[in-house]
Amino acid sequence: MRVTILGTAGVLPDPQRAQSGYLLDKDGQLVLVDCGSGVFSRLAQLSIEWTQLDTFLLTHLHLDHMSDLLSIWTARWLLGAPDATLYGPVGTREFITRLLDLFPYIRDHVRVIVHELKAGETLSIAGFEVSTLAMNHYVPTLAYKFDKKLVICGDSEPEPALVDFVRGCKLLIHECSFPDGKPAPLHATPTLLGEVLAHADVEWLILTHLYPSAAAQTEELIKAVRKNFPNEVTVATDLQVIEL
Ligand SMILES: [Zn+2]
Ligand SMILES: [Zn+2]
Repeated sequence: MRVTILGTAGVLPDPQRAQSGYLLDKDGQLVLVDCGSGVFSRLAQLSIEWTQLDTFLLTHLHLDHMSDLLSIWTARWLLGAPDATLYGPVGTREFITRLLDLFPYIRDHVRVIVHELKAGETLSIAGFEVSTLAMNHYVPTLAYKFDKKLVICGDSEPEPALVDFVRGCKLLIHECSFPDGKPAPLHATPTLLGEVLAHADVEWLILTHLYPSAAAQTEELIKAVRKNFPNEVTVATDLQVIEL
């Protein structure tokens, strides 16, 4: 599979970083995981076939992870592809229904099937085997595992259950919103993340969802994680492409 990291910022603006979004491509099957502000434009920078992008996963229902969703669906409708399937945590169906009700001209033209996922499920989505894990954030939040290779976490403080969840995976993409020393309830900071993942059997950890204070010291973030986590650690950049 090919993973394109579309956005790597947290909530605050960063000229180099859009908000969260990840495009997965497996033999032409496209899945978009999260789509915060700027992801619509990032997708436009790629030569994707918009009508093929019909499967969407949300880690959680915070604005910086879904604000471009209706823009994408509207564009797809105008391009002749009104159908989409959306997966998200409990609450997604009511959330999307109410959101679409605010825009009848969109609601009346897009056809979206919503599947709410619980933690601990494994199911087939667009050719991927997808498993879910509950994270620890302000609202119901999931981590998704794809084909036992890749885990993309929603926002969370470091979750001990990840150690088992990522076993044998090649890549874990995890938020690191703030550097050490900043109060970060229900988000991750690097030393604590490394401590929790110290014995996680995953080859490569990519840090993302960076607030400006974290983005300004990426080397320090990596060093802090690696005090305890022994494997490869890097910091995500927008439009980074990874083949797994
Ligand atoms: Zn976020
Ligand atoms: Zn959040």
